[in-house]
Amino acid sequence: MTKKTIRPVPAVHARRCFACAHGTIRLTNLRGLTLNYRDEPDLLVTRDIEVPRCDTCGEMPLKGSDTKRLSVLLEELRTDRKRATVTKFIAFAESTFPDVPRYEWEQAFGLSKGYLSRLVTTRVMDTPLEILLSGITASPREALHLLSITRALPPTLSSKLSDIARR
Ligand SMILES: [Zn+2]
Repeated sequence: MTKKTIRPVPAVHARRCFACAHGTIRLTNLRGLTLNYRDEPDLLVTRDIEVPRCDTCGEMPLKGSDTKRLSVLLEELRTDRKRATVTKFIAFAESTFPDVPRYEWEQAFGLSKGYLSRLVTTRVMDTPLEILLSGITASPREALHLLSITRALPPTLSSKLSDIARR
């Protein structure tokens, strides 16, 4: 019986990176990485997805189906993050400003009545509104003051701002 020589199987997808010329392109699971996508910085990849990626510079030479799979996933993550921001804002507004009706917030943001609820379910909000909601959740006094400079706030919201400004 002859002894078989076992040779390592070359990784089919491993190849030199054209972008940095040092790294190797390998199939890489992006879960746990943060990516910039459209107007969303640092989008955390929370699901498994394997695409070719340079182990040194991070270049991802994607084509065809890889591009499609990744953009579908990133679009989902982007939507998830925007919905989470609205949900967090609504919970914050209801607990911190229980007297302020929902439609006053919508009025203050220049939105139609019921729009905030639709942002949780069907619509995807644009990034300026996302920034504003995040700002109010993080620092209501400063963010609402900024908002009050640009437009007259609805009555309940306006009086609440006066209350927190005095604290
Ligand atoms: Zn590279």
